[in-house]
Amino acid sequence: MVKAPPASSLDDDLRTHLDARESAAIRRRLRPISSGMGPRIVVDGQSILQFCSNDYLGITSHPVVTRAAEVALSHYGTGAGSARLVVGTSSPHSKLEQAIAQLKQTEAALALSSGYHANTGVLPALTTSEDVIFSDALNHASIIDGCRLSHAATKVYRHNDVEHLATLLSTAITARRRFIVTESVFAMDGDLAPLSALVSIAKEYDALLVVDEAHATGVFGPHGGGLVQELQLGTHIAVQIGTLSKAIGALGGYVAGSQTLIDTLINEARTFIYTTALPPAVAASATAAIQVIIQEPERREQLWSHTKFLRNALGAAGYHIHPGNSPIIPVMVGDAAITVALSNALFEHGVLVSAIRPPTVPPGTARLRVTPMATHTQTDLEEAVDAFSAVGRDAGYIK
Ligand code: PMP
Repeated sequence: MVKAPPASSLDDDLRTHLDARESAAIRRRLRPISSGMGPRIVVDGQSILQFCSNDYLGITSHPVVTRAAEVALSHYGTGAGSARLVVGTSSPHSKLEQAIAQLKQTEAALALSSGYHANTGVLPALTTSEDVIFSDALNHASIIDGCRLSHAATKVYRHNDVEHLATLLSTAITARRRFIVTESVFAMDGDLAPLSALVSIAKEYDALLVVDEAHATGVFGPHGGGLVQELQLGTHIAVQIGTLSKAIGALGGYVAGSQTLIDTLINEARTFIYTTALPPAVAASATAAIQVIIQEPERREQLWSHTKFLRNALGAAGYHIHPGNSPIIPVMVGDAAITVALSNALFEHGVLVSAIRPPTVPPGTARLRVTPMATHTQTDLEEAVDAFSAVGRDAGYIK
């Protein structure tokens, strides 16, 4: 009989990998926080100004939203108890889907357990081995995994490069269907997909567009419906995907489109069928958040005003800000170790900004990803810019 290796050998092996990550300055650690989300959070007992949440509009603590969750919690209890197709759909789920369809101006919508579930569910449900998916090089990990789980061949086009996309599309004219998949606001770069050009190219090559609006929903569009809404391209997008966890401040994901698309996903999307429904209280809070997003445009205005201030002030302080037009403000550093050192120094100055390193971003492009919230004050922003200036100068990184 072959003797099993000692259990510790796995740990030894894993430790070696973790050590290698440590030396490359790409080891990740969890940071304990003991407060809710907000411009200031409590880390290790210390109140700190943070610029790294995706709660762009400060919705997680909005009294209307927390109240909606409390009411649903007391009525429906803590969990949904099963997948939606097993026991049934509670009214908070149906109301949420109506609210999403209203926000996105689509015929129908489906709520899933996360944006990750949405992206990993949609492409496998809609494609066969006779199809080809064209995916932007900087698409989120969940889109990449959706491509991997599908049976279709995937071709990756250079980031936002419509000409490269056209070249690749021209090699797949005999495929049954062509799907182009992109984020509308790129999560780590904060730049926007050329959606109008993508719509034209999709028409030219008879392709279908799948757009992930994770960072656009609540932030773009006259009612917060996203970049697709702002550009009035809704009728040209076959599938809109998004998350309930960022500007909507809850948890969950969604798909918005035609009723037939949604009926198909209910039948075919494994990440919908085989997982427990969102807790009804979470669904209720997301529905309330969507109403707030529609009814309180001043939150969006505040977020944009903060975005402009920070982009200008951090640039003026001497940092290289990746160009873009969104509240995701990447302060480009390059080297992972320097990025971590700057992030740690900012923390010492009472400002939390995460170091984003490979493999989340390509090697050599580590960055400090700054995201304001509508609920930051002008003083908060100035404090952050002062901290950036001080740590950059101390490190000899800026003049
Ligand atoms: N798509 C994009 C573009 C994202 O940035 C994220 C979250 N980081 C997701 C999907 C996944 O969303 P969720 O957090 O709801 O799983």
